[in-house]
Formats: sequence, structure tokens, C-alpha cells
Amino acid sequence: MSQGIVTVAYIGASIMFILALGGLSRPETSRRGNFYGMFGMLMALIATMIGIVSDNYFVLFAGILIGGSIGLTLAKKVKMTQMPELVAILHSLVGLAAVLVGFANFMDHGTDLIGVDKTIHDVETYLGILIGALTFSGSIIAFLKLSARIGGKPLLLPARHWLNLGLLVAAIWLGTKFVDLSAMGGGTLPLVLMTIIALAFGVHMVMAIGGADMPVVVSMLNSYSGWAAAATGFMLNNDLLIVVGALVGSSGAILSYIMCRAMNRKFIAVIAGGFGTSGGTTASGTDEEAGDIIALEGAEVAELLLDAKEVMIIPGYGMAVAQAQHTVHEITRKLRDKKINVRFGIHPVAGRMPGHMNVLLAEAKVPYDIVFELDEINDDFPNVDVSVVIGANDIVNPAALEVPDSPIAGMPVLECWQGKTTIVLKRSMATGYAGVANPLFYKENTRMLFGDARESLDAVLKNLD
Ligand code: NDP
Repeated sequence: MSQGIVTVAYIGASIMFILALGGLSRPETSRRGNFYGMFGMLMALIATMIGIVSDNYFVLFAGILIGGSIGLTLAKKVKMTQMPELVAILHSLVGLAAVLVGFANFMDHGTDLIGVDKTIHDVETYLGILIGALTFSGSIIAFLKLSARIGGKPLLLPARHWLNLGLLVAAIWLGTKFVDLSAMGGGTLPLVLMTIIALAFGVHMVMAIGGADMPVVVSMLNSYSGWAAAATGFMLNNDLLIVVGALVGSSGAILSYIMCRAMNRKFIAVIAGGFGTSGGTTASGTDEEAGDIIALEGAEVAELLLDAKEVMIIPGYGMAVAQAQHTVHEITRKLRDKKINVRFGIHPVAGRMPGHMNVLLAEAKVPYDIVFELDEINDDFPNVDVSVVIGANDIVNPAALEVPDSPIAGMPVLECWQGKTTIVLKRSMATGYAGVANPLFYKENTRMLFGDARESLDAVLKNLD
């Protein structure tokens, strides 16, 4: 395949990726967006395999076979609730690839170039390895936190900001040493030392972030993985990798910004760490101090719903765990048939990944026009007769507004307690992901429906006829 055809295929693939991002920005067009992305990736792979790779086909196909089989098995096995940790571990692989390509490039072509070209190449290699290493270790920690293999509690080392600054200064100093030594055919030691520093920085950065701020970390690491891929593109002189890396990097950065705004956090403050939980402690006293709770049965909840005119459903992570979205849709259909206005209130960080709830509701075929974002419906709660909170906790926690020293203070929440009655479906009195006690459960107009969300909703559904 001539270089011209490869370039045309790469431009075609880039356009497909841009269309994919455009499509993925709205639930209605997301399926189409995914197809554009898959088609673009196919074009890119074929053009690279035929046009760029010229030998070692055995290694290439062996790699595709092994990687493809692992990917296929994982995609088949993974549950929807495990998606965030899968995404985190996949980000770590992008980071690892950037590190390995960087070292291979340094060892292979380090001495081919001279003068300014060599310096530029060295800086690309150095930055690629740096971003790759911190993406790798940071994503591994994010994976461990999201899969609950390690706690969500932030690790706050003394003088951690100075430690971060020290690591940054050391990385810059080693960079200058690397460029100097590489010009004389050396540079391995500063490169290895910087890699160790970047790995340590990735671990420290994500360890210092508390449970409630994990959404920002997930999208931030997504952005880093894009920049790591772009850096790999520079090292390999591959334009498509640069374009794709920049697309992922910048869309991840925009998503991080949106997440920060949604949680009323400053980006730099999240990166510097320290927000989050102190691990399951109550933010407003002990359970006895908090007051009594009123528990209902499924039939009583059905009665309340049938008496309502305005119903707001607030899904959270527990709906995903219970896979209750189809029952939720059935209940919605029945209530709407009875001329009861049912709407959904979606918090931007509900669930464990951006858009988690929207994906589940779309899968269950809940109409898009009754699904609203927090900003759109939060003022409507005083007119709501019954809010049904399904496996959500942090996103409806009044402590975010009422308790100034709460780990989630300042985060906007869905103010369902402003409505007439709130029904909370969960299995126990356990805290949510941020580990903060929730005063909502003890409010006068709150009722609890205990049990697995799907079983509880099945009981409600049975009583709606
Ligand atoms: P939470 O984790 O705050 O609460 C979920 C609740 O669901 C729990 O209190 C749990 O209580 C209940 N639950 C779990 N399983 C079931 C079940 N089978 N049936 C019924 N209830 C169940 O989730 P939210 O969605 O309210 O908030 C999201 C949290 O996750 C936020 O703190 C956010 O910062 C964080 N996060 C979000 C990410 C994102 O990108 N969206 C990424 C990473 C973290 P019980 O055990 O008693 O049943």
C-alpha cells in the first residue's frame, strides 16, 4: 500500500473518530457514534498493518490474537457494574504501552538523529514515558479503589504538596540531564530514575483522592491516557496516533472539567488530593442521634405511587447492582398509563462512571424525554409528590448542603427531601461510596423500602394493577 493511500485512510479514520465523539455526546445518537468509532478503528488497523508494518508479521498477528482474545473474554465476562474498573485497567495499558514504546525507541533510534532534531526527539521520548508511567500507576490504583480491593479513604502523607512539588522539580531536573547525556550517547540513568518518580507520583496522586472525588480521577486518567497515546504517536512519527491521542486527551480533559463543575470542586484541588471520606464515619453524629426511620412494604409504596400526580425517580449505583432498570421501566409505563407524570432525575456522578445511569435507562428503553439532568429538575422538587430513590445515597445526601465539614460539602445533590414524600430503596443503612452517613433517611417525610432494589421493585410492580 502506498504512503498516499495510508495517509488517506488515516484522514478517513480521524474523521470517523471525530464523528464518533459527536455521536457519543447524545444518548439518541450514541449507537451511531459507536459504529463510526469501530469503523474508524478498522480502517486505521488495516492501513497500519498493510501500509506501515513491513516485516515481523508473525509477532504482529500473535499479538493481535493474544490481545484480541483477552479483550473479547473480558468484554463478554464483565458486568455493567464492573465497567469503571475495566476502563481504569485499560487506561493503565495505554500508559504501559507509552512507557515501553518510549524505552524501545530510546534504545533503538536514540543515536540516529543529531542536533535540534535529536533534542526534540529526546524531549518527546521523555515526556511520553513520564505521562505513560504516571497514567500506568495512577490507573492501577484507580482500578484497585474502584473494585474495592483497597479502601476509598484518602492517603494523606504529611507535607504531601511539598512532596509533589519535589517530585515535579526532580522530574524536570532529570529531564535536562537526560537531554544532555543522550546527546553523548547516554541518558539511561536519568530516564530510569524519572520513570520511578513518575510511577510514584501516579500512586501518590490517586491514593490521596477520596471516594467522592473518584469520578474526576476516572475522567482525568482517561485524558492522561490520550496524551500518553499522542506522545507515543510523536515517538513513532504516526500522525493518526497523535490525532486520536489528542482527541481522547482533550475530550477527557473537558469531561474532567464538567465533572469538577458538577461536584463543585476545583480541578487543582482535586489533583492535590485530600477531599473525600474518612471512611464510613457519620458526618452528623451517631445513628441514635440521627433519629428514627420509617420502613414500608412494597404494597404500601405502590399505594403512595398510585395516589401521586408527580413522581420523580432517582437512580443510583444500587440500581446498576440490582439490574433493576427493566422493572423501573415497567413501573414507569404503568404509572404513565394511569396519567401520573413520571420523570427521572440524573445526578452527573450517579453510579460509578460518567453517564452510567443514562446508559442503563437507555438499555431499558426509558424514553429520553422524561430523563432530566440535576440542573434541569432540582428546583421542581417542591412540586413532586413522591420521589423514589433507587440504590442512590451520596447524590441525595443533604449533608452536602447542611454540614460544612462533611467530605462531600459543596457537592450539588438532588434535593428530593423538598418534595412531599421520599422513598429510599436500599438493602441496609450502609453508607454510599463516599462513606458519609445520610440524614435523608431520618427525615420526617422519608420512607425506607429495604431489600435488593429489583426484588423491592418487583413487589411494588405486582401491586400497581
Ligand atoms: P452510592 O455509592 O452513594 O450509593 C449506592 C447505594 O446503593 C448504597 O448506599 C447501597 O446501600 C445501595 N445498593 C447497593 N446495592 C444495592 C442493591 N442491590 N439493591 C438496593 N440498593 C443497593 O451511589 P450513588 O449513585 O448515590 O453515588 C455515586 C457515588 O460514587 C458518588 O460518591 C460518586 O462520587 C462515586 N463515584 C462516581 C463515579 C462516576 O463517574 N459516576 C466514579 C467513581 C465513584 P446498601 O448497601 O444499604 O444496599
